[in-house]
Amino acid sequence: MLKVYNTMTRRKEEFKPLKKGEVSIYCCGVTPYNHPHIGNARPFVTWDVIRRYFAKKGYKVHYIQNFTDVDDKIINAANKEGVTWKDISDRYIKAYFEAMDALNVRHADVYPRVSETMPEIIAMVEKLIAKGYAYVVDNGDVYYSVEKFSHYGKLSGRSLDDMQAGARIEVNTAKHHPMDFALWKAAKPGEPSWDSPWGKGRPGWHIECSTMSLKYLGEKFDFHGGGSDLIFPHHENEIAQSQACIGDDHSFAQYWLHNGFITIHNEKMSKSKNNFFTVKDILKEYPGEVIRFFILQTHYRSPLDFSDERLKEAQTSLARLQNTKAYVDELCAKQGTADTAAELASKAEALRKEFYEAMDDDFNTALAISQMFALSKEINIYYQEVTNGTKAFDAAGFKTVAAIYAEMAEIIGIFEQQEKAEDDGLTDKLMEIIITLRQDARKEKNWAVADKIRDALKDADVVLEDTPNGVRWKKA
Ligand SMILES: [Zn+2]
Repeated sequence: MLKVYNTMTRRKEEFKPLKKGEVSIYCCGVTPYNHPHIGNARPFVTWDVIRRYFAKKGYKVHYIQNFTDVDDKIINAANKEGVTWKDISDRYIKAYFEAMDALNVRHADVYPRVSETMPEIIAMVEKLIAKGYAYVVDNGDVYYSVEKFSHYGKLSGRSLDDMQAGARIEVNTAKHHPMDFALWKAAKPGEPSWDSPWGKGRPGWHIECSTMSLKYLGEKFDFHGGGSDLIFPHHENEIAQSQACIGDDHSFAQYWLHNGFITIHNEKMSKSKNNFFTVKDILKEYPGEVIRFFILQTHYRSPLDFSDERLKEAQTSLARLQNTKAYVDELCAKQGTADTAAELASKAEALRKEFYEAMDDDFNTALAISQMFALSKEINIYYQEVTNGTKAFDAAGFKTVAAIYAEMAEIIGIFEQQEKAEDDGLTDKLMEIIITLRQDARKEKNWAVADKIRDALKDADVVLEDTPNGVRWKKA
C-alpha cells in the first residue's frame, strides 16, 4: 500500500488514484530570472523520482510544471540589462533545462507559461468576479476576497484572524481585507501588459497555477507539489481560487506534498549571506548525478543541509554503487551454467521488496537507497567469489540479480550519465567507419581483410546484417 504525507490532513494517507492506473501531478515551476539554485532543484528531483516510481509500478503519469514567465523579478532583471522580459525568461528557461538535464530530471508532459495562458487566466478571473469571490478596484486591479471563501487557511492551518493580526498595515490600499490578494494587476508604465476587461495589465502570481492545473489536469487531480515555502500563501490561494471557481470543496488537488528546505551549513540560503549556490556552479565541481544522489539520500520532507563535505560523501557513496554496476556489467558479459546464484537472487528479491516498501512509505528514498547498498554489497561478494574462482558463474541466476539492481537504479535515476557518456553516439560513429572499411575491402575483393573484420567483430559480440538499407550492426 502506497502512503503519502498529505499537508492538507497533516498525516500519512493511503494513495487512491482518481483514475485507476493513472496519476496526475502538478508541480509549481520556477520564475526564470536567474540560474536555478540547489534549493530550486530539490522539488524537481523529488518529483522526478516520484514519477519514475509510479511509472515503474505501471501507472500512466501526467506531469505538468509551469514557468512563471511574467513576474516583477523578470521585469526588473530585463530593465537592469536593457533587454526584454522575454529575453530574460527565454534565457533562464534554457538554463533551467540545462541544469535539470544534468540532474537526470525527465521532462514534464507540458510546461505551460503565463504569457501563453492569458485567455484562460482572464476567463478564470472573470468567473471569480461573477461568482462574487473577486472585486475590481478603481485603478483596474482585481482582488480575491478571502473572507468570501469560508475555508481560507485550511492548507496552512491558519485562521484569517491570526493572519490579520500579523499582517503589515498597508497604506492607501483599496483592498477590502489585508489578506486579499491580486488576481490581476493594472499595468504600470513600461511594464509588459495584456488587454483585459479591466484594462491593460498582467496576472497576479497565484492565479496562473490554478488556471494551468485546471486546464491540463481537470477539476480534480491527484497531486500538487512544491517547496514547503509555497504552502502559504501560494498554495492556500490556489485552493481558494480553484475551489471557489469550480464550486466544490473537494475539487482540485487531492494530495498536497511539500519538500523541506535546503540549508547551507545549517543556515538559510540567501544572496545577501553569499551562501547561494546555483546548480550551474556546483556542476563545475561535481557531476549532476552526484548532486541528484545527494538530494535523494535525505527524505524529501526533511531539511537538507548542503555543504562541500556532504557532497563529497555523496560522491564517494555513489562511486561505490557505480563500482558494483561495473561488476554487474562484467559478469553479465560472461558465460556460465553453474547453479551458484540462487541464494543471491533470493536475497535480491527480498531487498527489492524492501526497496518498494520504503518507496511506498511516502517515497522514502533514503531508506530505498540503503536497500540498494545492501544489494551492492551482496553482488560484490559474489563477484569476488567468481573472480577468484571459489564459485563457478551462474549466468541465468545472475540475470535476475542484475535486473533488480538496474531497476533500483532506474527509479533513483542514477547510472544514466555513465551510459550517456559511454555512448554519446561514438559507438555508432566508430561502427560506421568499420562497416565502410569492410565494404571497401569487399569491393576490392580483398576477402581476407573483410573476413578478418567480420571475425573480429564477432569476437566482440557484434553481428553484421545485410538489410535493404545497407549493412546494420547489432550486439549478439
Ligand atoms: Zn504554483
